[in-house]
Amino acid sequence: MELLDGKGLSAKIKDEIKNEMDAYIQTPILAVISIGKNDASEIYVKNKKNACEYIGMSFIHVNYQDDVSEDKVIKRIKELNKDKSINGIILQLPIPDYYNVEKIINTIDPTKDVDGLTNISQGKLFNNYDAIVPCTPKGIITLLESYKISLASKHVVIVGRSNLVSKPLMIECLKRDATVTMCHSKTKNLSEYTKTADILVVATGRKYLIDKTMVKKDAVIVDVGISREDNKIYGDVNPNVKDVCSYLSPVPGGVGPMTVAMLLKNTFEAYKKQNGIVSISSLNFDK
Ligand code: NAP
Repeated sequence: MELLDGKGLSAKIKDEIKNEMDAYIQTPILAVISIGKNDASEIYVKNKKNACEYIGMSFIHVNYQDDVSEDKVIKRIKELNKDKSINGIILQLPIPDYYNVEKIINTIDPTKDVDGLTNISQGKLFNNYDAIVPCTPKGIITLLESYKISLASKHVVIVGRSNLVSKPLMIECLKRDATVTMCHSKTKNLSEYTKTADILVVATGRKYLIDKTMVKKDAVIVDVGISREDNKIYGDVNPNVKDVCSYLSPVPGGVGPMTVAMLLKNTFEAYKKQNGIVSISSLNFDK
């Protein structure tokens, strides 16, 4: 069994972006909006800030108290949309449930929507247009591809059906000719499905939902989930799957760091698009 080392790969990707960014005079800027106080979100925002600082990308964090009016948040996002120096805008989730999260997210200019969560970004993704792919699915695909794990004709089983992770991942897998099965909390006999997976992706936030009895021999397992207990982080997959699977993404150190690296990548790509820059690495001189 081999671990899918998201930490190592994300470090390489960050260095690549840093090197490429050094060629540009103006630095890209990522703006993060958060509402209220949430321990996990604070850690995620700090990780994003540290990653931006490491590669030399500017980072703005606008944190509101949990009694801020929705109008005020929306007004601020509209200002950030207009500000040409801002290249990426994200709303740190979750926010308190009395806000209209859909409305706030859809205020973000789709060209700056570096989490890929606006209806326009998701519609483009669904229709195979050139879209900003949400960071976690993009990170999962990049991680698998870096280990030369092909998706074509494989059976990918995704446990979870969120707009943030699972549905965009389904689209990315279909694009690569996988056969995809989606499972969720109302799926009966979950293990009947998970046992048939060549590649099993679990994104539920339920600690150790999947164990070795639910996995096919030599399956590739991607553990997306994060649960916190007594200051420790757990994934959705019991480590005993190591006895059975061929690859496993660890928690922590697997998908999490890849998500942050993809946020930087999406922001840098948005910056280049907004400024009409074609990167040399994307030009094809072979023809
Ligand atoms: P979400 O919106 O809460 O969705 C969770 C999904 O899991 C839902 O579709 C739910 O089904 C399903 N589910 C819950 N219990 C289940 C069960 N017992 N059996 C089968 N399915 C079950 O979460 P998300 O945003 O997709 O995130 C999922 C997990 O990944 C969370 O732990 C989150 O913290 C983590 N995450 C990690 C990263 C990273 O970078 N590592 C990034 C994003 C998210 P229903 O739809 O039927 O309710």
